[in-house]
Amino acid sequence: MSDKLAQIDPNSRLKVYVETYGCQMNLADTEIVLGIMSKSGYSPTNTMNDADVVLLNTCSVREHAEEKIRQRLGTIRNQRLDKPNLVVGVLGCMAERLRSNLLDDRKVDIVVGPDEYRKLPQLLEGALAGTQGMGVRLSRTETYDDITPFRAEGISAWISVMRGCDKFCTFCIVPFTRGRERSRTLAGVVNEVEQLVRQGIREVTLLGQNVNSYRDGVNDFADLLAAVAKVEPALRVRFTTSHPQDLSDKLIDTIAGHDNLCKYIHLPVQSGSSRVLETMNRTYTRGHYLELVRRIRARIPDVALSTDIIAGFPTETEDEHMETLSLMEEVRYDGAYMFKYSPREGTPAYKMGDDVPDDVKTRRLSEIISLQQKLSYEINSSLIGRTFDVMVDGTSRKSDEQLSGRTDTNKTVVFPKGSLKPGDVVRVKIDRASMATLFGEVVGYLN
Ligand code: SF4
Repeated sequence: MSDKLAQIDPNSRLKVYVETYGCQMNLADTEIVLGIMSKSGYSPTNTMNDADVVLLNTCSVREHAEEKIRQRLGTIRNQRLDKPNLVVGVLGCMAERLRSNLLDDRKVDIVVGPDEYRKLPQLLEGALAGTQGMGVRLSRTETYDDITPFRAEGISAWISVMRGCDKFCTFCIVPFTRGRERSRTLAGVVNEVEQLVRQGIREVTLLGQNVNSYRDGVNDFADLLAAVAKVEPALRVRFTTSHPQDLSDKLIDTIAGHDNLCKYIHLPVQSGSSRVLETMNRTYTRGHYLELVRRIRARIPDVALSTDIIAGFPTETEDEHMETLSLMEEVRYDGAYMFKYSPREGTPAYKMGDDVPDDVKTRRLSEIISLQQKLSYEINSSLIGRTFDVMVDGTSRKSDEQLSGRTDTNKTVVFPKGSLKPGDVVRVKIDRASMATLFGEVVGYLN
């Protein structure tokens, strides 16, 4: 028996600590990992110092994300000097992309990709016995449909309804780290939502890399959304992330036709130039995208839209950058996630070379960010005097005397505390706005 096992009290439940990086899919995966671990006798801890096992659930979407993990592994190695029995594992997209390379310098004991989390208990047993381990096979079927996620207390829950992505945008590493698309059964998802409602959950967010290409062989995403909405009319239902190619009129009608389906759509555009979009393999043109936005707004007038934008994609010209700015002016997004292009080895765009100089990328990104900040402020300011139904999330980060919550259009609203609790829905009259937040007074109680 190796040193590590000999040092650990056989009667104690080993403590596992998971640190999560990246997107909501990773947050949901961490809950699945903790569900698998607690079923195998581990107890989750929120404190790394208490842990026998430390797992980093990683992101690979940009170089910067991976650099953060390398630094973190350095810190943990120092921690191991005082705690030699500590087992360290790397999970998620970086594990899938780098595989055995992560085992080389023995900072890491196990490497497990997004489709092999069921192997964690056995790989950890090996690591506790001193053997490094790896599970990085991508699956065409794995959806963890039968796993009960281990969720922290709260009124909201993530539910991943499909995994993988078949879109192969040329800049994106996800299809290589998360594999092909596969969906859970509609019955499995609805069953989980019913359980969550019984546990007091007031809001669910349906997740997928490309959630609107959900198909369980019979039902599409619009069918799933309608079925989830029917579980409990007071339950708020959100979803992310959508691909413009798969946002059908049926889906738009379904969102418009159910009060508890939130009127907020995250619709990544990435660029305003049709030539750049083609080079990105986004499968739509500027015109298609604008026509889609027009159809959404015609059917759901008060809808809020947010997006993703990449600045400085290879070969992007100054004029094409201007097309991105003009598209933002035309759509007037409520918010956006905006990044500089980051070459990812293994993606088709990587072979194109990174020909937009970094200072040009930086300047283009700052122009995109300043424009979005101006638009967000104008849109939020135009809501002063209006009244919105807000679900309480909790104490505001701004002051202990205030609460914050969100409208169904995903606007953050801050208002005086009173005797409210998370999950309560109140009517708030807006009297002030910033680019990220609305402020107001409670004028009614809805539950
Ligand atoms: S749709 Fe494109 S950007 Fe989104 S996860 Fe799939 S390949 Fe990546």
